[in-house]
Amino acid sequence: MTELNSAASAPLHLPLVIAVDGPSASGKGTLSRRLATELNYTYIDTGAMYRTLAWWALQKGLHCAKPMTDADERAIVNLMRRWKAEMRIVDGQGWLHISGYFPAREIRTDTVERAVPVIAQISKVRDWMVARQRECVQFGPLVMEGRDIGTEVFPLAPVKFFLEADEGVRQARLAERGNAGSDGALRDSMDTSRKKGALYAALDAIRVNNTGQTPDETFAILMDHVRSRLGRS
Ligand code: C5P
Repeated sequence: MTELNSAASAPLHLPLVIAVDGPSASGKGTLSRRLATELNYTYIDTGAMYRTLAWWALQKGLHCAKPMTDADERAIVNLMRRWKAEMRIVDGQGWLHISGYFPAREIRTDTVERAVPVIAQISKVRDWMVARQRECVQFGPLVMEGRDIGTEVFPLAPVKFFLEADEGVRQARLAERGNAGSDGALRDSMDTSRKKGALYAALDAIRVNNTGQTPDETFAILMDHVRSRLGRS
C-alpha cells in the first residue's frame, strides 16, 4: 500500500516533446525548426537520420531498391550495427554524424530520396532509429519531426501536430527544392503502407492542412496550440 501511494505521488517526468508528423513537403521542416527556435527547444529532423543511413548504404554499394531480399535487408542491418553513428547537437539542432561527419548536402539528392523509404521499411532499422530518437530527451525539450513521432517514438508527447497540404501544393514544393525527380507520392504511399512505423495521424494529434496559408499563418496556428497545451504565454 505504501509502495502504491509513493508511486502515485511520484512526480511524472514526461519528456517535453512536440511531435510533428506528416507526409513529404507538408511544411514539417520549416515549421518545426521555427517552433524549436521560438521555444528554445532542440530540433530533431528524424527524416535526416533515415536519409543518412540510406546515403551510407549506397556509399557502401548496398542494394537499396525494391525488390529487397532478406539478404539485402540483412546487409543494411549489419552495416548499421557497425557504423560509428552518434547524435550531435549543432546550433540547437540534433544530427546523426557518421565517424564525426554529417552529410548535410549528400542526403538531399534524388538518389537518396528514392532509397530512403525502402530502407525505412526494415523493421530492425526502425528499432534502431526509434531507440536513438528516444535517447534525444538527454538534450532537453524537443521539437521532433518525422512520420511516426506521435504514434511510435513518443506516443505520450503532450503536443502532437499532423501537418497536411494538398497533393499539388506538395509536388510544387518538392520541385522548388530541386527534388522534382523524386516521386513524392510513391514515397508517401510506401511510408503509409509499411507494417511498422507507418505514417498516420495519432488520434490526439492536431491536424493542420496548410494549403493556401502563408508559413507565418500556419506558424501562428501551431504556436496558439502550443501555448494552450503547455500553458506558455
Ligand atoms: O522527412 P523526410 O522527407 O526527410 O524523410 C525521408 C524519409 O525517411 C521518409 O520518406 C520516410 O521513408 C523516412 N522516415 C521514416 N520515419 C521518420 C522520418 C522519416 O520512415 N520518422
